Amino acid sequence: MKLRFAPSPTGNLHVGNARTLLLNWLYAKKKGAEFILRFDDTDLERSKDEYAEQIKQDMAWLGLDYDAVIKQSDRLKVYQEAAEKLKQSGRLYPCYETKHELDFKRKRQLSQGRPPIYDRAALRLSADEVAAFEAEGRIPHWRFQLEDVTITWQDGAHGELSFDAKHFSDPILIRENGAPVYTLSGVVDDLDLGITHIIRGDDHISNTAIQIHLMEALGGRGEDFVFVHLPLLTGADGEGLSKRLGSLGLKDLKEENYEAMALVNYLGQLGNSEESDISLSLKDFIASFDLSKFGKSSPKFSQEDLLRANGKFLQVVPFEQIKGRLDDLGFTKTTKAFWETIQGNLTLLTDVKEYEEICFSTITPKIEEHDFIEQAKEALPKAPWNEETWVQWTSALKSQTGRKGKALFMPLRQALTGEDHGPEMKKLLPFIGYEKALKRLNGNRE
Ligand code: GLU
Repeated sequence: MKLRFAPSPTGNLHVGNARTLLLNWLYAKKKGAEFILRFDDTDLERSKDEYAEQIKQDMAWLGLDYDAVIKQSDRLKVYQEAAEKLKQSGRLYPCYETKHELDFKRKRQLSQGRPPIYDRAALRLSADEVAAFEAEGRIPHWRFQLEDVTITWQDGAHGELSFDAKHFSDPILIRENGAPVYTLSGVVDDLDLGITHIIRGDDHISNTAIQIHLMEALGGRGEDFVFVHLPLLTGADGEGLSKRLGSLGLKDLKEENYEAMALVNYLGQLGNSEESDISLSLKDFIASFDLSKFGKSSPKFSQEDLLRANGKFLQVVPFEQIKGRLDDLGFTKTTKAFWETIQGNLTLLTDVKEYEEICFSTITPKIEEHDFIEQAKEALPKAPWNEETWVQWTSALKSQTGRKGKALFMPLRQALTGEDHGPEMKKLLPFIGYEKALKRLNGNRE
């Protein structure tokens, strides 16, 4: 078994293509299959090495490896040979229309209520007409002549899909500048490299019909491939995500300090009919992964959900696993005990900053009820402190003042942390310590 992820390096990976990547990778690992990273970079103008490099870095961030990397731009000769073969069998024919002429034809067809299918005018050109075009300096592009067949396959996500080739235009496989179009290079590679499973977005469904037809013209067989067309992600209201995807790049999420494994959990779950627990490692995730649970309804992506997933991951990740990340972010004061105290309150790892500040640095106390805080100061238990200290202190204050609930706890929290919310005070208090607490109750910046 062999799978591939085939991005066009014309931009950065976003959550949509990261999901395709991840599901391919997970499936490959689950089945012990080979996994290839293939850069579909035959569009030399739009493809850039720096995007390819960034894609590799994004994969490394997620912890997704590959067995080989292939650049289609290194294989142009192979595609040329395939094109020659098609020319020889009469399936690839030269066309001389300009883009402008093609647009005009399309518009006319549409205005006449006809489908905008290429009329194969190029097949009817006489030798003289061809010679005249050539004399004008026109360079042909080349189209693949479809046969009047029905193409059917069993799709892993959609069930049986069937298309009549007569509803498609003969696809262009070679552009005027001689560059192969992805339809050709993709098919040649999928055949040549022995790919067995093609998992990609369902925006490729109609391409697949053409590609299967082309595979057969090149001596391959569509039924040798398993196709799974995953529904594209939509926004929370079911709207297309395409416009927002630009701001949902993996690079951006990394810079915003999302945890890679949280993203894996979130994207690897989206569209899965069964909820499962957070996995701490890719290894665990592979163990619970089941591609057959991904159906044909469009999963909804929401950044709020992703943020929540990040928080859920931080709630369970052990100190030993997160230590390196804490160090990278400069949170060197966070010990195991401290981590376990605050992890339940984090959404992003950068939230640690606030807790380190409260316990190991300086804050500005928020004191509104001075008399009560005065009393609280008097009742403050002496060191050493432990997790019982908070209860001891607040119970004493409760009986002295008759205060309870928010009226009792909030002024204390505000004085000791400068904040209205945060981790459980009973856990935080021992980290703040007697001296700091006393100074803060005195209203000192400490
Ligand atoms: N380069 C294509 C894309 O990014 C690959 C699609 C595929 O065959 O997987 O959409």
